[in-house]
Amino acid sequence: MASESVKVVVRCRPLNNREKAMNCKIVVSVDSTHCQCFIKKPGDTEEPPKQFTFDGTYYINHSTEEVYNEIAYPLVEGVTEGYNGTIFAYGQTGSGKSFTMQGVPDPPSQRGIIPRAFEHIFETIQCAENTKFLVRASYLEIYKEEIRDLLGKDIKQKMELKEHPERGVYVRDLTMQTVHSVGECERVMDLGWRNRSVGYTLMNKDSSRSHSIFTIHLEICSIDTAGDEHLRAGKLNLVDLAGSERQSKTGATGDRLQEATKINLSLSALGNVISALVDGRSKYIPYRDSKLTRLLQDSLGGNTRTLMVACLSPADNNYEESISTLRYANRAK
Ligand code: ADP
Repeated sequence: MASESVKVVVRCRPLNNREKAMNCKIVVSVDSTHCQCFIKKPGDTEEPPKQFTFDGTYYINHSTEEVYNEIAYPLVEGVTEGYNGTIFAYGQTGSGKSFTMQGVPDPPSQRGIIPRAFEHIFETIQCAENTKFLVRASYLEIYKEEIRDLLGKDIKQKMELKEHPERGVYVRDLTMQTVHSVGECERVMDLGWRNRSVGYTLMNKDSSRSHSIFTIHLEICSIDTAGDEHLRAGKLNLVDLAGSERQSKTGATGDRLQEATKINLSLSALGNVISALVDGRSKYIPYRDSKLTRLLQDSLGGNTRTLMVACLSPADNNYEESISTLRYANRAK
């Protein structure tokens, strides 16, 4: 598999009000022309900044529009042609994962990757000639290695992962909502997002600790000049990963620690899969090590495209977490 099909970019957000109030210093910088990211150890040190190179680097002043047009666009375009693609946001809690994936309506340049992908797909559908599309959406979350259907009737119900010789790995009875427009897609996403919060209250859990996967499934039927129909299918997974913060810092014990171990397990399983794919020489890709990687197996590697957006805080007090995000992202490259 060509490493071309896995791209990793870094996005560093501005200092937030809390960091400003604490007089935090900025320790991250980027050279976007050369796709480099630098991080300097806090304090008076002679140590040169550590340097990392990615497929793209975005800073405080960059918008999600730029990230989308430069790097996500070709991936989503591929999905409308019948390929599978996956976009991940990785990083510690508060680093800008939801800002990047869901985004904010104002300013329009900061609308998220998810609503942009909806628009992109429906524009392609409207312009397509001699082609019919069926679009369906599903939305699930993985929390402590348990899968829940965010569009289902009962948010507490645990869903089962199944394997079928032809269909591959799938979630049994997962809701697949047919959608006909950007508006419908947004409503489905909002519904899932709300159910997610209801689930948190009901089950006393914390949103930063679950992975959520919004998937757009496309069935594409093109009719050639002889009038014959050709069927293809593509799917786009939009994944907001659990916060990557290491738990030693949060002093977790008991249930919380067990939960943290499982989060770390699936993030490291994902890192292992992506780096094995990028390496290209590994015959064995360890998809089976977590629910997340099993579920995304048909959308990682092979004929698919993957984009990881690693999100960072620029502040000195997040130095350790930022270094570990950069190392993770660098390994995935
Ligand atoms: P996460 O999903 O990683 O926990 P969020 O996306 O919720 O983090 O971001 C935390 C806060 O930082 C939010 O208030 C968000 O609006 C703000 N933020 C994140 N990235 C940016 C950015 N690039 N520009 C401006 N504000 C941002």
